[in-house]
Amino acid sequence: MKKVILTGDRPTGHLHVGHYAGSLKERVRLQNEGNYDDIYIMIADAQALTDNAEHPEKVRQNILQVALDYLACGLEPEKSTIFIQSMVPELTELTFYYMNLVTVSRVQRNPTVKAEIQMRNFEASIPVGFFCYPISQAADITAFRATEVPVGEDQAPMLEQCREIVHKFNAVYGETLTEPKIVLPKNEACLRLPGIDGKAKMSKSLGNCIYLSDSEEEVRKKVMSMFTDPNHLRIQDPGRVEGNPVFIYLEAFSRPEYFAEFLPEYSGLEELEEHYRKGGLGDVKVKKFLNNVMQAELSPIRQKRSMWEQRLPELCEILKAGTEKARAAAAETLHDVRHAMRIDYFENDNLLK
Ligand code: ATP
Ligand code: MG
Repeated sequence: MKKVILTGDRPTGHLHVGHYAGSLKERVRLQNEGNYDDIYIMIADAQALTDNAEHPEKVRQNILQVALDYLACGLEPEKSTIFIQSMVPELTELTFYYMNLVTVSRVQRNPTVKAEIQMRNFEASIPVGFFCYPISQAADITAFRATEVPVGEDQAPMLEQCREIVHKFNAVYGETLTEPKIVLPKNEACLRLPGIDGKAKMSKSLGNCIYLSDSEEEVRKKVMSMFTDPNHLRIQDPGRVEGNPVFIYLEAFSRPEYFAEFLPEYSGLEELEEHYRKGGLGDVKVKKFLNNVMQAELSPIRQKRSMWEQRLPELCEILKAGTEKARAAAAETLHDVRHAMRIDYFENDNLLK
């Protein structure tokens, strides 16, 4: 069986270090390992419109921004097919057929949908399209016969729902769809990076992000203003490392080389944490180190991004070519789906059979 990756992001803003830790870094690693037959990276504009129907311009503007973030992080169009979701209408048709295989109460039980409805204060005014986005996501994944989906932990319920749809479809219409597997980051701190405000998830919609496109000064300001342990008031007080965003970021991004370069008086993260727990280590010192770490991680990304910002027409061509390739692949799956459902009426006079 072919090894295929499908993953993507909603163009609702620039990408942030949560995306980088949770999904982008892993994608680039898998891309460069070279073990995959196909890698599809989707800019999910149609999904973004499900909760931004009144702000189509915001979604439109962010398509190129997300594409810039991709190339800046090291995704390469020769190895990964980058495409725009709404330009592949086959995905919408698949969604429509899959909707019949899922109950309303099943979507209501999806914990990510529940959390997102609460976060957006939708209450009784949930757009039907938003409610159905897990089904459309199953269409995206299965359209490319993805075997692996590298995403952050918040996507686990979506993958579960997708697998259920695959089982149901195959049981009703015969073996047609491929069952995907989630690929989570190995580093626990990267599963769900908290926001700089200490909220459970860094998220574009919550405005608590360090963006990949932030300037050096913006990153510094954000790091220095980060939420830490609220009970660690004086330097000599013992501090908490667990749940402390500054330490979670260090777990996600620090490497032994960074200690050697920026904080050689500590052997590594364990010793720094030990000192913080005991008391006698100030937040400012830890934050200064974190700032150095983040700058070291982000400065090559920033440089590559500004290089691509000068080449937008070329970027458009990349998206156009990627979308054409994606469309052809999705059309093949849709053809198989229609065949399995026996709604390919005009092929070989099937309607008469
Ligand atoms: P929105 O607020 O518009 O939903 P978002 O910031 O949640 O935006 P998405 O585009 O929904 O971003 O997510 C894209 C990918 O990035 C998904 O795989 C998701 O799991 C991952 N991701 C997003 N935020 C984080 C985070 N804070 N930590 C780890 N992974 C994340
Ligand atoms: Mg999200």
